[in-house]
Amino acid sequence: MSTQSKVLVLLGAPGAGKGTQAPILAERLGLLHLATGDMFRAAVRDATPLGVLAKGYMDRGELVPDELTIRMLLDRLRRPDAEGGVILDGFPRTVGQARALDAALAAEGVRVERAPYIEVPQGELVRRLSGRWICRANSHPFHDQLNPPRVAGVCDEDGSDLYQRQDDRADVVQARLDAQLPPFREVVDHYRAAGVLIAVDGTKSIDLVTKELLAALLASGDGDPSAHGTPDRA
Ligand code: AMP
Repeated sequence: MSTQSKVLVLLGAPGAGKGTQAPILAERLGLLHLATGDMFRAAVRDATPLGVLAKGYMDRGELVPDELTIRMLLDRLRRPDAEGGVILDGFPRTVGQARALDAALAAEGVRVERAPYIEVPQGELVRRLSGRWICRANSHPFHDQLNPPRVAGVCDEDGSDLYQRQDDRADVVQARLDAQLPPFREVVDHYRAAGVLIAVDGTKSIDLVTKELLAALLASGDGDPSAHGTPDRA
């Protein structure tokens, strides 16, 4: 990170659509997309020491402990490809993580510029998570009703096969929401208090949500680190 680096935090409960929107926003805004869920899944797949530690928590739908998660993310942020700015997806998920991020960024003269928040009611999250399919190569998400792939079982973007995540099974989905929503709400409050939260209605179509996110980010001075627009301070 450098003082020029832009940091956006994309907020949303599990199933809100972060994994769909983050790559689109990253491309449109010229930012690196970093998803801690993808980083953990890669570590599990490669059976690294971190992956071995994280797997049990992930399979149960629990959060991986802050200490491991914070270290993994901050190490990743120190790599040169993060210099141009990042959009974080799935991090922070606890206030402890949010504070650790704030402190690490402050040490580099940077702060979270915006926290766009994709808002979706809880009942809708269950429906979305249990119909979700993810591609093997790049975690591109699809949904059997809301966003089906053009060819069943095949990713539209890269042609790799689609699978259902172990933690998207119906019995784990509810446990995940029960474990993850309370700390997530505190994270939303953290960014609201910091005056950087921008909430958008995540129940609309994928395209409309993208448009609203981009409009909110660009209107609020995205591209100009000195401008801080009119984020949601309610
Ligand atoms: P995701 O793909 O973002 O839903 O993440 C999948 C799983 O990885 C989560 O259910 C957690 O077990 C773990 N995980 C991802 N990001 C975090 C985080 N910031 N803090 C703790 N656990 C995380």
